[in-house]
Amino acid sequence: MKYAILGDIHANLEALQAVLEDARNQQATHYVCLGDVVGYNADPVECLRLVRDELKAPVVRGNHDHYCSHPDSLEGFHPLAADVVDWTRQQLSSTDIQFLKHLPYSRQVESFTVVHSTLDTPESWGYVFDKLEAEASFSYQTTPICFYGHTHVPIAFIKTGSVQMGKYSKIKVSVGRKLFINAGSVGQPRDGDPRAAYVLYDLINNEIELRRIPYDIEAAQRKVRAAGLPERIAARLALGR
Ligand code: ZN
Repeated sequence: MKYAILGDIHANLEALQAVLEDARNQQATHYVCLGDVVGYNADPVECLRLVRDELKAPVVRGNHDHYCSHPDSLEGFHPLAADVVDWTRQQLSSTDIQFLKHLPYSRQVESFTVVHSTLDTPESWGYVFDKLEAEASFSYQTTPICFYGHTHVPIAFIKTGSVQMGKYSKIKVSVGRKLFINAGSVGQPRDGDPRAAYVLYDLINNEIELRRIPYDIEAAQRKVRAAGLPERIAARLALGR
């Protein structure tokens, strides 16, 4: 059993297709999505269809999924992101909106947990960048492994007695320690590497691997511009920021 863990797809179909091709080549058998299927890029409907109908992946709610499906005020949301939320809402069908609206904040899949932001207060959309923030989530983590998203920066926190943090490419899962792992972003990486990111979790061999996959960034950028979405959103794809 091998899971492909897909975080922050953000309506980037070119990135998602490249990741899914790699996952198939790597013999992934199951899929799970860490939220923010929509928002920013130009293919929210098709990305949602793939994740929900084709992969039948368990999904948790991201902040973009939330704001695109709730008529809440967008006060406090970054203005750039708020423009895209408005645009995305117009693309989605009522079925799409109902699906996003009822996503859980976190859930357990097999023996691991998935959440978009934090386990302590997932509805506050806090970011986990440092050990203190990870510690807060660890105290709510009831499974040995939890995958999260939201920062778009792949990083691993390991708790034995204290918490260690660091970049990772492969992690061997072993008993007696907890892992809180950011799987990076499929559709809008922000760690300076523009390649799509996702994680393979092999539950048989107890291995976690971060994968980085090149994709047709220019095609995704052309669609963002053609949709009339902010230029900044197209530009950042090439920078990985
Ligand atoms: Zn996101």
